[in-house]
Amino acid sequence: MTYDLTFAKEVYQNSEEGHWIKMCMQCGVCAGSCPMGFLGAWTYSPRQLFQMVRAGMRDEVLTSSDMWMCTSCYNCIVRCPRNLPITHIVHGLARYASVQGKANPKQPTHQFAKDIFWENIVATGRVGEAALTMKLYFKDGIGEGIKQGLEMKDSALGMLKAKRLKPLPFRGKIKGYPGFKAMLKKAFELENQKEGKA
Ligand code: SF4
Ligand code: SF4
Repeated sequence: MTYDLTFAKEVYQNSEEGHWIKMCMQCGVCAGSCPMGFLGAWTYSPRQLFQMVRAGMRDEVLTSSDMWMCTSCYNCIVRCPRNLPITHIVHGLARYASVQGKANPKQPTHQFAKDIFWENIVATGRVGEAALTMKLYFKDGIGEGIKQGLEMKDSALGMLKAKRLKPLPFRGKIKGYPGFKAMLKKAFELENQKEGKA
C-alpha cells in the first residue's frame, strides 16, 4: 500500500482525535478485540481504516459504513498498546464524514443519529421515547413499522411495566427550553467558526 498523506493531514487537523492515527503501528489488537469484528459487521476494521487514511483513500474511508458500526464498548481502547483513543477516532471519522456530506444517508446509525435522535431531542430538549421509537420503526413505511412494532411488543410491554418507557409521544418542553436553544445556537456558531463557515 502506497502512502499519500494529503487525506491523513486533513484528518489530523479536522477530525476529532484524528491526529492519533499517526501513532498506530498496525498491530491488529483492536481488530482482534472488537465484538463487531466477531459478528462480521466490519468491512474495514479500525486498524484498516487508519491505514486507509494514511494511504489517502478519502472516498473509501468517508463513505464507509464501518465507523457507524462502533458500539463504544471501549474494548479496543483498553487493549491498544499505543493507547490510541480508538473509539473516539472512529466516531470522529463518522462525524467528519457526515460534515463532509459523504456519509451514506441510508446508513441506519447515521440516519438514526442525524434525522431521528437529533430532531427528537431538539424539539423538546429531552428524548421522547415513544415518538423516537415510532419514527424509527416507521421510517421505511407503515408496513415495516407495524412489522417492527409487533416484533418488539414484548420488550415494549416489559419496559412499560418497569416504567422505563413513557407511553405518550408528547411530554412537553423542558424547563428552560429557550436557554437550551440558545446553547445549541452558540454551539453551532462555534462549530461553524472552527470549520471556517462563519
Ligand atoms: S491496537 Fe492500536 S496500535 Fe494496534 S492496530 Fe489498533 S489502533 Fe493501531
Ligand atoms: S469501541 Fe467500537 S471499535 Fe472499539 S472494540 Fe468496541 S465496537 Fe469495536
